[in-house]
Amino acid sequence: MKHHIHLMIFLLASSIGCQTRIPVFNGDAAFTHLVAQCDFGPRNPGSVGHQKALDYFLNVLTTLADTVSTQSFTEIMPRSKQKVEMHNIIAQFNPKAKKQIMISAHWDTRPWGDRSLSIMRKDQPILGANDGASGVAILLELAKVLHDNPQKIGVNLVLFDAEDFGSSGDSWSYCKGSQYFAKNLPITLPEYAINLDMVGDANLEIYIERISYKQNPSLVLDLWGLAEELKLSGFKKMAYHSIFDDHVPLYELAGIPAVDIIDFDYPDEKTNYHHTYNDIVENCSPESLRQVGTLMVHHIYNQQ
Ligand SMILES: [Zn+2]
Repeated sequence: MKHHIHLMIFLLASSIGCQTRIPVFNGDAAFTHLVAQCDFGPRNPGSVGHQKALDYFLNVLTTLADTVSTQSFTEIMPRSKQKVEMHNIIAQFNPKAKKQIMISAHWDTRPWGDRSLSIMRKDQPILGANDGASGVAILLELAKVLHDNPQKIGVNLVLFDAEDFGSSGDSWSYCKGSQYFAKNLPITLPEYAINLDMVGDANLEIYIERISYKQNPSLVLDLWGLAEELKLSGFKKMAYHSIFDDHVPLYELAGIPAVDIIDFDYPDEKTNYHHTYNDIVENCSPESLRQVGTLMVHHIYNQQ
């Protein structure tokens, strides 16, 4: 009987072990990174906030990742014609591992609130709490999880600059950081990439983005299936918008089958905060970051 009790305790302990093996993603901690970025003000290339945010990311990531590097390039800003220095930031975990994956987000914010209803403010930069800060906030907290809970695969966290200074109607005038990255790949070619953009909306509704499904259908089904299993209610397993985002240059220019996780209706189909002065902290939530971060953590740690 004693043996049976020991065996039961062992089985119980190992099953608890299985359940707790996957770390918890802290949405509140991620949200503090979102607020910190917004406290720097707009982070459009060339601005004071842009420089402050760059320093902040390097500070946070250097203490957590195995290697951190920047990939710098210059671009001419479309309206001011000013020459500005841009920086992609690359934080690597297990850079020598055989299997390498990549998770990215853009960190710059749009220099103009051109979808704003107020004509007076259309030419001023936006704060980008959702469009800019949200994806990065998840990546910074993910770096903490990866640091505290070592695992086996190579994870490259990449922050792209210059995603959002394009002109509407000209897709390739956007995503300059990911284009430069894809043309001058500074890491081992990853098996695939997951890009996070506009993932902080308090009213979270993340549909399957159509180009993502074309570029990597199996990864899309894996991610949305996992979200369903984990009861992450912000994920909707239905195809909706087609959006030209950083996942497109990754695939077109570097052959990386990349998927975009994006909630394009911010906050919903009727009201629009995207590229307006309403893209602020108050319209985002820690719970939304928790859901997307949790999906990333389970995706990574399920592969061990
Ligand atoms: Zn944008």
